[in-house]
Amino acid sequence: MSKQYPLFFVQRFKGKVLFNVLMSEYTSLLIGGPADVMAFPRDEGDLKELLSFASSKNYPVLILGSGTNLLVRDGGIRGLVVNMTEGFKDITWQEETDKTAACIAGAGLSLAKMVSVCIERGLTGLEFASGIPGTLGGAVIMNAGAYGHEMKDVVEGVEILDRKGKKGFLSRSDLDFSYRSADIPEGSVVVRVHLSFEKEDSGEIKKRIKNYTEKRKRTSDIRLPNAGSIFKNPRGHIAGKLVEEAGLKGVRSGDVKISEVHGNYIVNLGNARASDVLSIISLIRDKIYSTRGVVLEPEIKVVGED
Ligand SMILES: Cc1cc2nc3c(=O)[nH]c(=O)nc-3n(C[C@H](O)[C@H](O)[C@H](O)COP(=O)(O)OP(=O)(O)OC[C@H]3O[C@@H](n4cnc5c(N)ncnc54)[C@H](O)[C@@H]3O)c2cc1C
Repeated sequence: MSKQYPLFFVQRFKGKVLFNVLMSEYTSLLIGGPADVMAFPRDEGDLKELLSFASSKNYPVLILGSGTNLLVRDGGIRGLVVNMTEGFKDITWQEETDKTAACIAGAGLSLAKMVSVCIERGLTGLEFASGIPGTLGGAVIMNAGAYGHEMKDVVEGVEILDRKGKKGFLSRSDLDFSYRSADIPEGSVVVRVHLSFEKEDSGEIKKRIKNYTEKRKRTSDIRLPNAGSIFKNPRGHIAGKLVEEAGLKGVRSGDVKISEVHGNYIVNLGNARASDVLSIISLIRDKIYSTRGVVLEPEIKVVGED
């Protein structure tokens, strides 16, 4: 299969390229069939090469952060997966005042790293993200959030490469953030994120993070592989509570189980398949619609072939 995608023609590419890799090794659910090609661009030059090459050959492209919000189907991914986690980790600090600071940070940086830099520098705004896994780029695309805060509160804009590798900038208003969503042109890659923060005493920031961490432990201390919340909370409801009230916690299909701890989490008991996750998702959606009249929309992104 990978012979269809001869990436060795991308001569100036400096990063690693893998063929026929199991996506289960690159997702937090540990589920997913093989990707034909996975390339790890080291910098913008690499990424530009990849995108323009793939676009000229009409190869399908999937952008991958840490795979913590992804369900990859069992047939895997045809085409090219661009893995952003081996480059794009730079942080450049911008103008600073007594009260505020701003930076431009690489999309491949982990959210956890960005939070720890904020603690070190006494910058508030990103505390909510302390327990959210994944990359900064993935967090922007998902407008990741918790405890009433979202990425949109700290993002001023993003530098992107479009599907042909051409540079662009999208401001916060261009991104048109909404609940777990940001609007970027199809096939574009977030390369850097412009962030702004207010200054605060590091002790206060740490206290807030400690509270959030304890809350997260109480409500979703899940030790088995998962992808966080499966469904968005529908207006006026909490998805996990609907699942719990429907008596679905603990329900299994193959090696996939609805978590006993949190109704909106699905866990992999060992050898879970995407098809089992998808059948659990439809079971939950059918039951909640038929008993409560509420339509649950998936928060996780489902990609790949059956
Ligand atoms: C234990 C656990 C707890 C979680 N808790 C929360 C929570 O509290 N709140 C919350 O909002 N989410 C939560 N999540 C979900 C997930 O962590 C977030 O959505 C996270 O921001 C995804 O980042 P990622 O790098 O893993 O993205 P991925 O899963 O790799 O990708 C997600 C989407 O973004 C796209 N993408 C990724 N990077 C880029 C890029 N640079 N440019 C363009 N497109 C890109 C991908 O194509 C895909 O469509 C949780 C997940 C887990 C496993």
